[in-house]
Amino acid sequence: MKLQGKTAFITGSTSGIGLGIATALAKEGCAVALNARKSTNETTELAAKLAKETGVKVIYVPADMSLPAEIHAAVHECEKQLGKVDIIVNNAGIQHVEPIHTFPNEMWDMVIATNLNSAFHTTKAALPGMKERKWGRIINIASAHGLVASPFKSAYVAAKHGMVGLTKCTALEVAEEGITCNAICPGYVWTPLVEKQIPDQMKAHNMSKEDVIKKVMLYNQPTKKFATTEEMGGLAVFLSSDLAASITGTAIPVDGGWVAH
Ligand code: NAD
Repeated sequence: MKLQGKTAFITGSTSGIGLGIATALAKEGCAVALNARKSTNETTELAAKLAKETGVKVIYVPADMSLPAEIHAAVHECEKQLGKVDIIVNNAGIQHVEPIHTFPNEMWDMVIATNLNSAFHTTKAALPGMKERKWGRIINIASAHGLVASPFKSAYVAAKHGMVGLTKCTALEVAEEGITCNAICPGYVWTPLVEKQIPDQMKAHNMSKEDVIKKVMLYNQPTKKFATTEEMGGLAVFLSSDLAASITGTAIPVDGGWVAH
């Protein structure tokens, strides 16, 4: 167990990559706080199931990651219930696919708030405790779209590039304090977020579902395979371990070779 005694708050972790990372951390003995906007029967059951499967403490902390006050309250709630927050995984994210000239202003604001501003606020709230204990890991789930762009995803690409910048800045500010900050940049991973954007991509590109998957999504992914949530979990575990103490300020692609183009 590489992470026995550690605690983690993973934002947006009731599905997809967030849940994959939470599961991987928990399997290594790390107590975890799951998060999504609201509390439901399903979120309570999910936390109980993960706790039963892994034997670690699993809590669920509802908070809307587009709202700074809720984010700060959530980090403090994790500190209260878990005793401390050693690892922050900024994973909550949304997508909107539309050309810039018709992109709704409120969607721009919502994507930037959820995908970028949230990482600033969790980091700001968690850093005092990490600095006090001289140990911390901040893992920002950016994207291959944090390194390269695609059309019709202006807000998402801007937010993810911003997240890579925030990662570097955070890493430099806390480099001498036992705290690292890195970005994971996934290519396409088969999750609800990807599944949900297929209808919009079909409209934007005027293509069938099969063509969107083959000619848009996996076109740039040389392996021609979706990456997996387990692969994201494995990297998050390594970045959280003491062996990764010298890895900081990086943006690591897990994209089947996409950004090697
Ligand atoms: P997903 O839709 O399965 O998960 C997103 C999570 O964020 C969900 O748990 C959702 O409840 C949560 N969320 C959304 N808005 C929220 C809010 N306002 N407050 C709290 N939680 C909120 O999607 P995913 O594919 O697992 O994406 C997770 C992250 O990985 C995102 O940041 C996404 O941009 C990034 N990413 C995904 C892919 C991919 O191909 N799936 C590729 C690159 C990057």
